[in-house]
Amino acid sequence: MARGYELSADELVQKDRKNMWHHLTQHKVFESVEPTIIVEGKGCYIKDVRGREFLDGLSGGVWCVNVGYGQESIAEAVYEQLKIMPYYALSAGNPPAIQLADKLTTLIPDASKVFISNSGSEANEKAFKMSRQYFRLKYPEKDKYKIIYRHRDYHGTTIGALSATGQEERRMGFGPLVPGFVGIPAAYCYRCHFGKSYPGCNMECARALEDVIQKEGADSVAAFIVEPITAGGGILVPQKEYFDIVQEICKKYEVLLIMDEVVCGFGRTGKWFGHQHFNVSPDMTTMAKGMASSYMPISATVCKQHLYDQFLNDPKDTFAYFRDISTYGGSAGASAAALANIKLIEEQNMLEKVVTMGGYLFDRLGELADMPVVGEIRGKGLFAGIELVEDKNTKTPVSEAYMGKVLGNVASQGVLVGRTNRSIPGFNNTVTLAPMYIVTKDEIDRMVGAIKKALETVE
Ligand code: PLP
Repeated sequence: MARGYELSADELVQKDRKNMWHHLTQHKVFESVEPTIIVEGKGCYIKDVRGREFLDGLSGGVWCVNVGYGQESIAEAVYEQLKIMPYYALSAGNPPAIQLADKLTTLIPDASKVFISNSGSEANEKAFKMSRQYFRLKYPEKDKYKIIYRHRDYHGTTIGALSATGQEERRMGFGPLVPGFVGIPAAYCYRCHFGKSYPGCNMECARALEDVIQKEGADSVAAFIVEPITAGGGILVPQKEYFDIVQEICKKYEVLLIMDEVVCGFGRTGKWFGHQHFNVSPDMTTMAKGMASSYMPISATVCKQHLYDQFLNDPKDTFAYFRDISTYGGSAGASAAALANIKLIEEQNMLEKVVTMGGYLFDRLGELADMPVVGEIRGKGLFAGIELVEDKNTKTPVSEAYMGKVLGNVASQGVLVGRTNRSIPGFNNTVTLAPMYIVTKDEIDRMVGAIKKALETVE
C-alpha cells in the first residue's frame, strides 16, 4: 500500500525543521532535539519516523482518536463516500450528513436541529452567534448578547471562542479579546475559589452564575458556556447538583445553556455525552474531536427546537435566518466518517468498555494516592487527572520544570500522557490521561506503571 509520502526519515526531519510551524511549540527546542514526526498508528500505539513506538495515553495527543488507530471501517466509509460524492455545499443536504443529524438527535433526545461545521472552536462560535441572533430576533428592543464562561474551561482558538476561554496561557498576547465575555470561578473543590468545602459550601461556584448575571443585567446576558467536565483546565468533575443549580439559574434569567462536549462527547466519560451524568438539558450541545474519532475533521452544534423556531418566526424579515456558513461543514466524507465511528462505538459496545476499563484505570490510579506528590486523582470513565503538589497540606503545586521532567520520564518509558494548560490561577500541575476505548488492562498497567515510576524517580 502507498504510504502517502515519499521522503526518507532524514528528509522529513530536515523539511520539518525548515517549513513546519508546530502547534503549541517553542521551536527553540529543535536546536537541540529533533522534531517528532509520527508516521503510523495501530490500536493504541503510534510509531515515529525513527521507528520508536509509543503507547498513546492521550488518544492522539488531544483526547480525540477515541476508537483507536487503524479502524478500517471508518477509512472505508470515507473512501466509498468520496468516490460517490465528495462534496456539495450544505445549503443542500447530503445523505451521510442527514443520517448523522438524525443519529445525533437520537443520542441527545431533547435536541432536534444539527448545524455541522469543522472544529470545536467553530461549533462554539456557531453557538455564540445563534445565541446572539436568537435574542435579537426574539427581543429586538434588548441587547442580550453577553456570554458567561468559567475560569479553567477551554472553548477554542478563534478569537470569539478564546474570549470565552478561562486559560491565561491560551489568551495572553492575543488581545484585545472580544468584549461581552465574562468569566466566573471554576467548579474545583480541591482548590475552592470561595475557600469552602463540599457539601457545606452552598455550591457557591454554581451560584456565582446568578451573581454575575445580576451584576451584568439579565437583559444583557445571552448564554452560559460550560464543559461538563473541564478537560485541559484540570479534569474537574462538578458535584452532582452543580448543573441542577446552573440550569435553574439559566431558566430564571432566560440565559441559554451551551454545553461544550468537544472532549467529553462520544463516550469519553462512559455515556454518550458528559452532561448525561447530570440532571441537565442544554439548549445547545457542541461536539467535535470524538465525533469521527478525528479520522476526519467534523463538529456540530446540536440545538433544541425552540431555538431553531425563533429563526422562522418573522416571514417579513428576509434576514431572519441563521446567516452562517462553513464551507467544509457537513461534507459528505467527514459525515460518513462520523457515522462509521458512531456505528463502531455501538457495535463494539465501547461505552460499556469505557465504564469497565475506566473503573480499572481508577482502581490502579488509586494506588498512587498515598504518594507524597499526589494531591488529588479525579475524572470519570477513561478520562483522568492526577494533580501533583509539593506538599499535600499546603497544596503548593509542583513546578513547571518538575512537570516537564515527569512527562519526559514517562515518554522515555514509551508511554505518552498529557498535562493541563496554565490556567487561572496559573497552575499547570495535573498529569492527564485519556486512553482509547480499546485499551486493555495490560496497557493501563503500563500507563499507570510509567507514571508511578516517574513520580518515584523525578526530583
Ligand atoms: N472545546 C474544548 C472543551 C476543547 O478541549 C477544545 C480543544 O481542545 C475545543 C473546544 C476546540 O476544539 P478545536 O481545537 O477542534 O477547535
